[in-house]
Amino acid sequence: LFITIEGPDGAGKSSLVKRLNEAIQNETDRPLVMTREPGGSEIAEEIREIILNPLHTKMDARTEALLLAAGRRQHVVEKIRPALDRGDIVLCDRFVDSSIAYQGQARGIGIEEVKAINEFAIEGLRPDLTIYLDVEAHVGLERIKDKKLNRKQDRLELEAITFHEDVRKGYFKLIDLEPDRFTIIDASKDEDHVFQETWAVIKAKISD
Ligand code: C5P
Repeated sequence: LFITIEGPDGAGKSSLVKRLNEAIQNETDRPLVMTREPGGSEIAEEIREIILNPLHTKMDARTEALLLAAGRRQHVVEKIRPALDRGDIVLCDRFVDSSIAYQGQARGIGIEEVKAINEFAIEGLRPDLTIYLDVEAHVGLERIKDKKLNRKQDRLELEAITFHEDVRKGYFKLIDLEPDRFTIIDASKDEDHVFQETWAVIKAKISD
């Protein structure tokens, strides 16, 4: 069972994923692999550092998309595929949909183009369920403002609000293409509420 969590910056993915981890482990004896992108394996985490380095202002959009796809390839081969083959549950914070929303839509490379390079990387792997945490760009950016003061800034967080609005547009295009795979959660609500709603959906899927 392959579950992915998606959403724009500031949607609350990372805190949600931590709570889901605990809830899933309490619910089932099936092994759980919790992972994230960009990154998720040693090589892919190194590629993540290159992508997000705020000093890399010259990085071309297609270079960025290719690096993300390369990291994803390594992550799939080393970690996700073997876990799914063992019958584990895999919960991944971001996957191909992020590349399509951020690079395909917001950076303007094109959805089909980004899909194509990712197809090369993942060889047909599809999430069984994708939770999309929906939040408007200004709300998401307001949330990460405080966090930003305390840590190294990601290059992507330096983008204008219109970039993040385009990311959201990209996600909605994807949802239109594959409505059955996605569950949309209103992530402007408080953390507890978002967790309860998400957990109900995942719990049902686990006990399928
Ligand atoms: O989800 P997380 O906060 O770990 O993502 C790190 C950064 O990478 C974020 O600023 C996000 O906007 C960016 N990102 C991106 N393109 C992707 C995936 C993530 O620009 N395909």
